[in-house]
Amino acid sequence: MKTTDEVGRLSANFQAMVGAIEERERQIVHVGLHDGLTGLPNRKLFVEQLSRALARRKDGEQLLVAYVDLDDFKLVNDTLGHPAGDSLLRQTAEHLGERLPDAQIARLGGDEFAILIDGIEPEANLAALADEMQACFGRAIVIDGQTIEASASIGIAIAPGDGEDGVTLMKNADLALYRSKHDGKAGHHFFEPALDEQARMRREMELDLRTAIRDGGFELYFQPLYNLRDDRLEGFEALIRWPHPRRGMIGPAEFIPLAEETGLIVPIGEWVLHEACRAATRWPDDLTVAVNISPRQFVSSGLSSTVLQALGRSGLSPSRLELEITESVFITNVEKTLGALHGLRDLGVKIALDDFGTGYSSLSYLRSFPFDKVKIDRSFVRDLTEEGNAHAVIRAITTLAEALGMVTLAEGVELPEQREILRREGCQFIQGFLLSEPVAERCLSDLIGDYAEYQPAAIRA
Ligand code: C2E
Ligand code: CA
Ligand code: CA
Repeated sequence: MKTTDEVGRLSANFQAMVGAIEERERQIVHVGLHDGLTGLPNRKLFVEQLSRALARRKDGEQLLVAYVDLDDFKLVNDTLGHPAGDSLLRQTAEHLGERLPDAQIARLGGDEFAILIDGIEPEANLAALADEMQACFGRAIVIDGQTIEASASIGIAIAPGDGEDGVTLMKNADLALYRSKHDGKAGHHFFEPALDEQARMRREMELDLRTAIRDGGFELYFQPLYNLRDDRLEGFEALIRWPHPRRGMIGPAEFIPLAEETGLIVPIGEWVLHEACRAATRWPDDLTVAVNISPRQFVSSGLSSTVLQALGRSGLSPSRLELEITESVFITNVEKTLGALHGLRDLGVKIALDDFGTGYSSLSYLRSFPFDKVKIDRSFVRDLTEEGNAHAVIRAITTLAEALGMVTLAEGVELPEQREILRREGCQFIQGFLLSEPVAERCLSDLIGDYAEYQPAAIRA
């Protein structure tokens, strides 16, 4: 009958439509719960998988959550391009799936992965398991014909000991990862309660730093830079100090790393530049001021306008300002860094390469930009004695720098003997406790006066 036929057709169409909608919904759910690039579960799905695994965990069984962060991923992206970075992520995901068939693997975002292994026997060897995970990441990967030595840092939390709910386990795995990143590449760290305490202290220090930025809670100290060749004071390096309301005077080594990590180094560095330029305008106008610039300030792009402002407001001549950078500014993006350096140089300020010799490709950076000055790291000066051959290294550096049209300064000079070897080996400038420790601004007029009065005999003595 015609009518039943029609009903049948309608019904079939309806069924097809329902099926299509369901399929579409499945796709939407899949897209919402998976990472498009690798096809792995995303953070949202991982959280669900974790809570299900925790719910079915039997007494005595352990469950492992690992947070993984690829080492040098940014470097791959910056040097080989984003498609190469994508390829590294996809290859990593694939390899993990093959090597750890019993694990649930997710991509949390960026270069972060998570691994969940459940049903672990109480007597299982967790250290061996961690080593096995570590080994999955440490391998050579070929991308576009280029071989990359990939590795990853891993943080591990184990239920029930390190937490019985997903939120706690993920937080603790993340804290362990933070620690393992700090310990260097290609390592793993198990969660321990002390990490919680350290994180709390970091948060507290970050809050205190913000307050200090707001209230002007920092101070600049100054350390003389001395010209050996002309036997005269050349200028001062500005070194930041933090007189903390509860903890007393804190040195930069203790808070600059956190300031860099949190980006707070940008406003702090801005303050240092302004303050250093302002201070220098009160000195005799043949004295220079050197300011340390952290890599993070380079990435922030506002650096040259900050420098311009600091010069403009203080009225300091650009030729009296020297910016000290370390070669780690080159790690992220060489082209961009060179552009920024040339931009700064065009303002008329000088550029010094700080801590020379502590990085691993110092020579190539030395050739890539015409630095005004090379500051030879303290570690080379410490070993200087008449007996050893450390002076040959100094000679090599001063000869090379001179050939490239750069002057050299030796850091950390503590003994007259070191000063004389440096003078002999062609080093033009020195800095160190032999001359003076860094001092507060109010002590500078005395120091400047001393140099003017007793020069050069006092220094030679
Ligand atoms: P740096 O730039 O290498 O500064 C020299 C450091 O060596 C200073 O430590 C100084 O006190 C110390 N020093 C100088 N002469 C001697 C010596 O004869 N013997 C020994 N053992 N040490 C000597 P300080 O002031 O604790 O600064 C440490 C580091 O913190 C600096 O190393 C620099 O990298 C960073 N820093 C300091 N101020 C700033 C700043 O304003 N901004 C940034 N981004 N970093 C800063
Ligand atoms: Ca420095
Ligand atoms: Ca230095």
